[in-house]
Amino acid sequence: LQSKLPALGTTIFSQMSQLAAEHQAINLSQGFPDFPSNPRLIELLAESARQGLNQYAPMPGVLALRQQIAALVQGCYQREVCADQQVTVTSGATEALFVAIQALVRAGDEVIVFDPAYDSYQPAVELAGGFTVHVPLLPPLYQVDWAQLEKQISKKTRLIIVNSPHNPTGAVFSHQDWLALQALVLKHRLYCISDEVYEHLVFDGQPQHSANQYPELADRTVIVSSFGKTFHVTGWKLGYAVAPVELTTEFRKIHQYVTFSSFTPAQHAIAQLLIEQPEEVKGLAAFYQQKRDQFSGALADSAWSLLPCRGSYFQLADYSAFSDLDDVAFCHWLTREHKVAAIPLSVFYRQPPSQRIIRFCFAKEPQTLTLATEILCQLS
Ligand code: PMP
Ligand code: GLN
Repeated sequence: LQSKLPALGTTIFSQMSQLAAEHQAINLSQGFPDFPSNPRLIELLAESARQGLNQYAPMPGVLALRQQIAALVQGCYQREVCADQQVTVTSGATEALFVAIQALVRAGDEVIVFDPAYDSYQPAVELAGGFTVHVPLLPPLYQVDWAQLEKQISKKTRLIIVNSPHNPTGAVFSHQDWLALQALVLKHRLYCISDEVYEHLVFDGQPQHSANQYPELADRTVIVSSFGKTFHVTGWKLGYAVAPVELTTEFRKIHQYVTFSSFTPAQHAIAQLLIEQPEEVKGLAAFYQQKRDQFSGALADSAWSLLPCRGSYFQLADYSAFSDLDDVAFCHWLTREHKVAAIPLSVFYRQPPSQRIIRFCFAKEPQTLTLATEILCQLS
């Protein structure tokens, strides 16, 4: 068989989690919480299943959940979206991203992504027959140079994929960034996919911005988010896409043949939790900021040099003060020899710069972070 994705192996997240398990290492690599979700959510899941809500959900998602998503968008960003025609529930943000890319990208199209970028965008673009064009984000702040980005736009450019708060760097778009993005999208008649899975994880009192707040941008954008991140249930694989009616129509044509619909009891459970405890989402930023501060505070006097983390649940750390290993070798060594697993930053690049930086996930119990940072502090 001739591979359609010849350069790809198994994702780094599977590789590093497996290595962590083999070596009984503390797993700060793949991004997932090690603490339980809201116990009420688990009760609601069991109740939904017991009540017999176990058959196919409607193709676009359980209406009660879509209404809660519309209410969330209204509450967070003051944008009115139609639950029926603009919101689609998906099997994780991963499915939403894949489907949106298949809907928007045609053979030969160019798609702008950042370097570093989350790993699922490029394969989805290539399966659609498109090509990614990579625009560098420069450390330590990993900001976008919008003038530089505009130079990369050609007649073939169809789509730009943005991700704020950003995985893997923790960078967050400012209001000016969103305005610059909106201007470019309008000027060049591009489409946009805005991956906002960490939308509620914005720290230090910064405002929580979204493509939802920029009407002319939102008119050409599929906005993607994930309940896995918001409710600490990454294994439930429940996400959603918010898009204008015309884009939603095209999105659903593909979604109906990729998964048709997503896990029914979880949709009812999350809809009910959002009704019963609408405040839960508002507490997320403070909850994760405490974890970021515990992790970074514990490493402050160590040989590690930490990069700024303004959102998401990832912390980048530079180890060049004490090792010459490349980041892949370093992560393997750290997992095997010191029992802490992390993700090498280079895997998120098409052309990795020469740097020695890795990514830690701090979505962990305080005692996990204590154990891990005690080990990390001993390295010098
Ligand atoms: N986008 C980004 C930036 C992510 O970090 C992740 C998962 N960690 C996803 C999309 C996929 O989300 P889900 O698990 O809901 O498929
Ligand atoms: N998005 C998660 C991360 O960045 C992993 C998701 C996955 O394993 N596919 O770590």
